[in-house]
Amino acid sequence: PDTADRDLPVVVIGGGQAGLAAGYYLRRAQVPFVILDAQTGPGGAWRHGWDSLRLFSPARYSPLPGWWMPDQPAEPFPTAGHVRTYLDDYERRYALDVRRPVDVTAVQAYPDHLAVSTAQGSWRARAVISATGTWRCPHVPDLPGRAEFTGRQIHTVNYHRPDPFRGQRVGVVGGANSAAQILAEVSTVATTHWFTLAPPRFLPDDVDGRVLFDVATQRELAQREGRPDTGGVAALGDIVMIPSVKAARDRGVLRAEPMFDRLTSTGVARDDGSTTDLDAIIWCTGFRPALAHLAPLGLSTDTHGHPRTDGTRSIDEPRLHLLGYGDWTGAAAATLIGAGRTARTCVEQIIGRPARRP
Ligand code: FAD
Repeated sequence: PDTADRDLPVVVIGGGQAGLAAGYYLRRAQVPFVILDAQTGPGGAWRHGWDSLRLFSPARYSPLPGWWMPDQPAEPFPTAGHVRTYLDDYERRYALDVRRPVDVTAVQAYPDHLAVSTAQGSWRARAVISATGTWRCPHVPDLPGRAEFTGRQIHTVNYHRPDPFRGQRVGVVGGANSAAQILAEVSTVATTHWFTLAPPRFLPDDVDGRVLFDVATQRELAQREGRPDTGGVAALGDIVMIPSVKAARDRGVLRAEPMFDRLTSTGVARDDGSTTDLDAIIWCTGFRPALAHLAPLGLSTDTHGHPRTDGTRSIDEPRLHLLGYGDWTGAAAATLIGAGRTARTCVEQIIGRPARRP
């Protein structure tokens, strides 16, 4: 890109679903922008994940603004690959200017602009939308003995399929959907132990992504209309009973044990003296927002460690917006349907007027 290209009203960091949704509204508002994405191809986090990963809901419940996700033939709940293709097509459909691979290393504040640094040079922007997701920052709790354990340890990010665990004794750690889904399939080839901090909360069998998104929508409406918080999806439970998880329940393996206190060379142990021998541990213990590039801004954080925001706008640096990541940037902001809603309000704040709806 030439130098003119490098001085823009808006730079979006991250070309996953959240960054694309922002691009959609910026384009409609005719605001020049560029999207910088670290990966070699489109799809954001949907480029990763395990082989059997599917959306929780039918395609029509997961649209980005402007264009519905097409149904996937013979798959009522689309695969990750289908979502990836949708995001790829979405970029081209709206001619979104996504540069890849461009890894943003720092955002710095100057009186008249924000400087966005990359290995391919820097961009100047009057506003920056950071939409870098969480996939890059897997979280593993810092328990004693992690280095002592001689078996294999992987995080959700490195899990693809059950075969490598065939015949082994496998500990799956974590109380949410990734853990339940990975446990469900690993338990078909291995002896599993499921460790959770609190007893897992299973949603009723008939609750799928449709209900989850209805709940998120009701909450957003209530917030917008100044009514009391109706509670998020978490008020209902955590684990969606997809077919593989139901099957694991039917086989009697969907039983959680209290979390262990430390790892040993041969497995895990609790302070009460109980031990479990394991060949492998799969940490399904979540992610943290990928915000290292914002460190130069010195943003203050809330009690959860997130930069303080009013909606998507940073309180410390109002030219910066945080989009996606989790509910702290907007209702269901880290889901496909929620990404579009929060992207609209984010762009409206930047341009200072209502955005044209799809
Ligand atoms: P991402 O998709 O992670 O995109 C961020 C992009 O920014 C990536 O391409 C990344 O490489 C790039 N990036 C990061 N740092 C930098 C940097 N410094 N410089 C440049 N680029 C950078 N949602 C649903 O709606 N329905 C579901 O059924 C569903 N199931 C899920 C199942 C799993 C296992 C997981 C993990 C998530 C699921 N989600 C689901 C949630 C959500 O849709 C995804 O997490 C989504 O990918 C978040 O989109 P994003 O654009 O915010 O981030």
